[in-house]
Amino acid sequence: MSHFVIVGGGLAAASAAETLRAEGFAGEMTVVTRERHAPYQRPPLSKGYLAGNEGLDEVIVHPAQWYAEQGIELRTSTTATHLDPEAHTVTLRGEGGGEGREGSDGSGGSGGDGERLRYDKLLLATGAVSRTLPIEGAELAGVHTLRTLDDADALRRELGGGGRSLVLIGSGWIGMEVGATARGLGNAVTILEREAMPLAAAVGPEMGAMFQRLHEANGVDLRTRVNVERIVGRDGRVTGVVVDGETVPADVVLIGVGAVPAMELARDAQLAEGNGILVDASLRTSAPDVFAAGDVASAFHPVIARHQRSEHWANALNAGPVAARSMLDLPARFAQIPYFYTDQFDLGMELSGYPSLMAEAQLVIRGDVQKREFIAFWVDHGRVVGGMNVNVWDVNEQVQELISSGEVVDLAALRDPSTPLERLLAR
Ligand code: FAD
Repeated sequence: MSHFVIVGGGLAAASAAETLRAEGFAGEMTVVTRERHAPYQRPPLSKGYLAGNEGLDEVIVHPAQWYAEQGIELRTSTTATHLDPEAHTVTLRGEGGGEGREGSDGSGGSGGDGERLRYDKLLLATGAVSRTLPIEGAELAGVHTLRTLDDADALRRELGGGGRSLVLIGSGWIGMEVGATARGLGNAVTILEREAMPLAAAVGPEMGAMFQRLHEANGVDLRTRVNVERIVGRDGRVTGVVVDGETVPADVVLIGVGAVPAMELARDAQLAEGNGILVDASLRTSAPDVFAAGDVASAFHPVIARHQRSEHWANALNAGPVAARSMLDLPARFAQIPYFYTDQFDLGMELSGYPSLMAEAQLVIRGDVQKREFIAFWVDHGRVVGGMNVNVWDVNEQVQELISSGEVVDLAALRDPSTPLERLLAR
């Protein structure tokens, strides 16, 4: 009987496992994750779960029992340490508790040390890990990063009761979302950003400024163009962050300076890599029978004819099933337009588009940026290559269609909210 192994404990792993069974794969399947939880999704960790409005049920994709019902062996608290593509084996190491250790959700425990699993097909869905900041004081108690459920629990314990001073280093999506959630919980929030604008790399300076105004209107002290020198503390616990010679007091610090793909296993196996594991549009790596999906994969995108790595929920959700079909030798091609969403204070937005094309594009606004109710389009030589709807709903599908049509659009009509987006598509 064929044995398929999935390494990873996130949404890409869960969605691949689900699709393999849905497509009729009846062979053996093992999901290996180094975390003690069944595979889960991360967006709530900086939003509803951190705020205490959402529980484990909203985070875990399927409970451990689902894997048992599907005849899938779920190995939690188990790290895949070595991959030998020629021998078709992956070596496992159980963490801490060893055999039978219970996960928080009752899932099974880890396998034995050094055990080698033979696979017929292997999916690497190892995701990404928080980037660290090599500065003095980063090891102090009260200094956090946020990637895992356990990270979110630790942060929730610090911020849940309100009344603390949180300093966020970095104003990427996670920093900005945690800032909003922490304010909602009644904490004082300072965000420190090296660049001139928050989120500028993701959405450009004009939209970055819109997010800055949103945070400032909600009482966040957002300081840009600053240089974080070190983190200071007393008795092993953080007390402040030194910025350009001034100490900003802090009870809690979150370092949110991005994530890096979890490449250990791929490097060990000498798989081709770029910014992530290089895969083709069917999510095949350079090694036979080894596939990669989610945050760790840099996939060749057939529309823009280049590799791109996307650190987004929808990418993990949609790439897992493509990898699964590819593992089953079914037709499979990953050609999704990157999609991202965020919720901060009273702002909800969806962003679709190709970052590499958006970087050079012209911004066209439809609606009212001051009221934070608009759609921003990124237009390159008359063609829409990105679109962000802010507090405007049920338009993402049309935005995606505009992008995928590749047609030159009438900019005046694009700007005009009274012209239905469908009409632009029909031209
Ligand atoms: P991951 O979710 O990173 O899962 C990888 C798993 O593999 C981890 O559990 C890891 O422990 C395990 N693993 C790694 N190496 C090994 C190994 N060798 N052996 C065993 N296990 C291993 N995206 C959005 O679009 N919108 C959002 O609002 C949003 N919010 C986010 C908020 C937070 C706090 C975070 C951290 C991310 C957010 N994202 C958001 C991004 C999104 O969650 C990721 O794109 C998604 O989690 C990627 O899924 P994945 O399955 O590829 O990897």
